[in-house]
Amino acid sequence: MIVLSKMVGGEITVSKKLTYDKLKTPDKDVAPVVVWNATAKCNLRCIHCYADASSMNNNSHNNGIYARGNIKMKELTTNEVKSLIDDLSSINVPVILFSGGEPLMREDIFELMLYAKNKGISPSLSTNGTLIDNESSEILKKIGVSYVGVSLDGVRETNDRFRGLKGAFDKALEGLLNAKNAGILTGIRFTVTKYNIKDVPYILDLLVENEIPRFCLYHLVPSGRAGFKDDISVKERRELMEWLFKKSIELRDDKEKIEILTVDNPADGVFFYLKLREIDEDIAEKALEFLKQRGGDSSGYKIADIDMFGNVHPNQFWWDYTIGNVRDVSFSKLWINPTDPLLIKLREKTRYIKGERCGRCRFKELCGGFRLRALRAGDLWGDDPSCYLKDDEIGIT
Ligand code: SF4
Repeated sequence: MIVLSKMVGGEITVSKKLTYDKLKTPDKDVAPVVVWNATAKCNLRCIHCYADASSMNNNSHNNGIYARGNIKMKELTTNEVKSLIDDLSSINVPVILFSGGEPLMREDIFELMLYAKNKGISPSLSTNGTLIDNESSEILKKIGVSYVGVSLDGVRETNDRFRGLKGAFDKALEGLLNAKNAGILTGIRFTVTKYNIKDVPYILDLLVENEIPRFCLYHLVPSGRAGFKDDISVKERRELMEWLFKKSIELRDDKEKIEILTVDNPADGVFFYLKLREIDEDIAEKALEFLKQRGGDSSGYKIADIDMFGNVHPNQFWWDYTIGNVRDVSFSKLWINPTDPLLIKLREKTRYIKGERCGRCRFKELCGGFRLRALRAGDLWGDDPSCYLKDDEIGIT
C-alpha cells in the first residue's frame, strides 16, 4: 500500500486515524493486519472477484457448507471465529479486515466485529456497500468499526456491468454515504482494469464532491475470476500513475481532505519518489524514508489472509497456496516464527529476487515488485510484469 498523499506531503485523513500502536508481538515479530474472508456468499457477481465468490453458491450450500466438485468445505462457525480472534488478540494483531464474498451476508458478522473490538482488535469492513442501510450503519458505528471501504469500479454503467447487477452503483453509493453520515471513516476502493481505466477521474471527482476521505486505487492481481487479459498495459499504468500523482498534488494544494493510496504495486512508490525529486528534494527525502519503513510488498509478513474455511494464505489473492488451517493449527503458530518455506522466503525476499529487472533494480530493497504477480507471470522470483519504470530509472542501463 502506497499512501501517495503522505508521500507528497498532503493530508492523510484516514491513515493517521488507522495507525495501530500494537505492531509488535511479544516475541518482536510483526503482528500482521489480517484479512478475514467472512463468507463465500455474495449478492453480486463481479467479473474480477479474487474469491470467485457466489460461483460456489451455484453448487450445494447449506449452513455454511459449500461444494466445489467433489470437495465439501464448511465455513468457520461463530465459535471457531471467536477462538481465532482470541488467538489473533494474543499476538497483538492490530486490525481485522472483514471481507468476503460480501461480509454483511454473514448473519453473525456484527457479533464477530464486536467480539474483535472487545478483544482490542480494530474491526474494518471491506464491502460492496449495497447492504449498508441506515440501521446497519448505526450498528457499525456503535460497534466502533474503524473504517468502511466500499468498492466502486467505474461510472454507473461500467460498475453495474462489472458487478453483474443493475442498480449496484446506486446502492453502493447510498451505502457508502449511509456509513459516512453515521460518522464512520469511509473510502472508495477502485480496481483498475482495461474496462474502467477511463472512469478513474469520474470516481475521484465523485469522492471529492461527496467528501469521502479516502480513494484506494487497486492494481489488478490475476486471481479468481481476474486474469492478465483484463489488465491495463504498462504504458497505460505509467500514464495513470502520472495523472494520479499530479492530482494528489492538486488536492494537496487545494487543501482537500482527501487521501489517495495505491495498492498491490510497490513500484508506484518508487515512481512517485522519482517524480517528487523533480519538484522538491526535501519532500522526496521524506518520501524515501517512508518507503524504507514500508519495505515493499508485505504479503506473508505484515499482511495475512484467512479464508472462510480457515485456510491461511500469504495474502487475499493467493488462495492457491495454503500455509495451514486454523482448525488444525492456530494462526499464531503458523505465522510467528514460521516453518512454512514460502513464508520464510517472502520475509527475506530480497535474497531470492532474480528477475532481469527486479533482480538488478537499484530499488529492490524498497520495492521488490509484487511477488504474486510475478508468480502469475511464471516465476515467483522473476520480474513483476506491471512495473512501468524505465531501465535508466531503475539503474540497469
Ligand atoms: S524493477 Fe522490480 S524492484 Fe525495481 S521498481 Fe520495478 S518492480 Fe520494483
